[in-house]
Amino acid sequence: MQSYRSYIDGNWCQGDEIWKNTNPSDTSDIIGECEFSNRRQAEDAVAAARSAFPAWSRSQLEERAKILDRIGREITDRRVELGTLLSREEGKVLSEGIGEVDRAASFVNYMAGEVFRFDGKRYASVRPGIEIETTREPIGVVLGITPWNYPLANGAWKVAAAIGYGNCVILKPSEFAPASAWAFAEIISRAGLPPGVFNLVMGTGEIGDALVNSNDVDGITFTGAVPTGQVILAKAAKRQTRVQLELGGKNPLVILDDADLEIAINCAVFGAFSQTGQRCTASSRLIVTKGIYSKFVDALLKRTEALVVGHALEKGTNMGPVSNEPQLEKDLTYIKLGQEEGAKLLCGGARVKRETAGHFLSPAIFSDAHNDMRICREEIFGPVTTVIPARDYEEAKSLANDTEFGLSSGIVTTSLKYARDFNRNSQAGMVAINLPTSGIDYHVPFGGRKLSGFGSREHAHSADEFFTENKTTYTSPGNCD
Ligand code: NAD
Repeated sequence: MQSYRSYIDGNWCQGDEIWKNTNPSDTSDIIGECEFSNRRQAEDAVAAARSAFPAWSRSQLEERAKILDRIGREITDRRVELGTLLSREEGKVLSEGIGEVDRAASFVNYMAGEVFRFDGKRYASVRPGIEIETTREPIGVVLGITPWNYPLANGAWKVAAAIGYGNCVILKPSEFAPASAWAFAEIISRAGLPPGVFNLVMGTGEIGDALVNSNDVDGITFTGAVPTGQVILAKAAKRQTRVQLELGGKNPLVILDDADLEIAINCAVFGAFSQTGQRCTASSRLIVTKGIYSKFVDALLKRTEALVVGHALEKGTNMGPVSNEPQLEKDLTYIKLGQEEGAKLLCGGARVKRETAGHFLSPAIFSDAHNDMRICREEIFGPVTTVIPARDYEEAKSLANDTEFGLSSGIVTTSLKYARDFNRNSQAGMVAINLPTSGIDYHVPFGGRKLSGFGSREHAHSADEFFTENKTTYTSPGNCD
């Protein structure tokens, strides 16, 4: 059986506690044993990153690019194998698993090119005879903490940006999806990085907390739930450590009377139920104006009931299992709550039996929901969506913004006027017009507003705001030759 160990200072390290990684489509399938690190190993990882930093921060750009290129290439070459592993450990259907692998490779490849754009600027001075230039320098030791829903892609975009910009990094993946993170680390371990530049520390939130509390971490890039992000932010603030948070969402998709019904249903079904609804950008609030409401609800119900729930690797499955038992319990609690709150459970929301013992849940739609219900305000993170009626566009827009979250939002309409107005007034970091709220490009900024995000955006050129810091240099020729 495969052991998933931590990788610290160029060595694979035995952990203290063993955690069995099971397949959510078939809990009798043990994927491997994850060995959780102890606090001393967490400290060792930070120390290794610190001592590797001076040399790596001065490494040649071509060296960095070649290493990233090797990593990206191997991920692509092994896309089916890694996609299968993702499906097996996380419950994504195979096309979604391979899609995540491709996205991970794209991030790494993008960064392989981006290292050459590590630029600066020259300015004229307001003082005579003085030259000014601004440059960006790596920040030092970066801690990346990731959730279970994108164990490969999320690690890839944090690690590739960290090392591409000349930092050293410690990746702490989720305890619920260690195999894909380990596979990524194993590829990196053979790519030619000096020891200590990249480190992997396995463990639960406890080891994450130990790393966050380290005095020797210069930046924390965190993706996960709002409460965890807030704890990390409070701790980091005490030491003025820079933090980037990518957190949850309660993403609205507005459907107007003039919408193309087919597009609206495609967006809603994909947004709500792809990846079993376990996406930070999932459309968990479908806000529908009254002229199209019943037509939309009928068509949504029909399409949702046709979704085949089953083993993630079985042909014909449209929706895999919930990723882990605690998440399934959480989903079921919210389904009960929605009924108690008076929303109408149109379909789904029950455990489903299949040939294998897995965490299967039928996709749930609540219609006639009100935006003040807890099922419309709190992130569920499962295959559960709500349909909220709205009088007209103005009310729909206001309901869309009436949330503590602000990750992504969408509108389906044939009206350019409403599409533009929505785009201008949506309080979300990302807006989708006639597209699902989920689904992103890797070469443009990614991130949310309000409770959904904090700090600078991830991805693309905006990543340099977190992974590097600015230096302004004033030069007077003085007595220089
Ligand atoms: P989580 O917050 O429970 O855990 C995320 C990571 O933090 C894990 O590695 C966990 O071990 C670690 N952790 C837990 N407590 C910690 C602590 N006190 N200190 C340091 N680390 C700690 O989230 P999850 O359940 O793994 O993931 C689901 C959440 O992630 C959802 O809210 C989802 O919306 C969010 N998410 C956001 C994005 C985004 O880009 N905005 C992307 C994917 C997932």
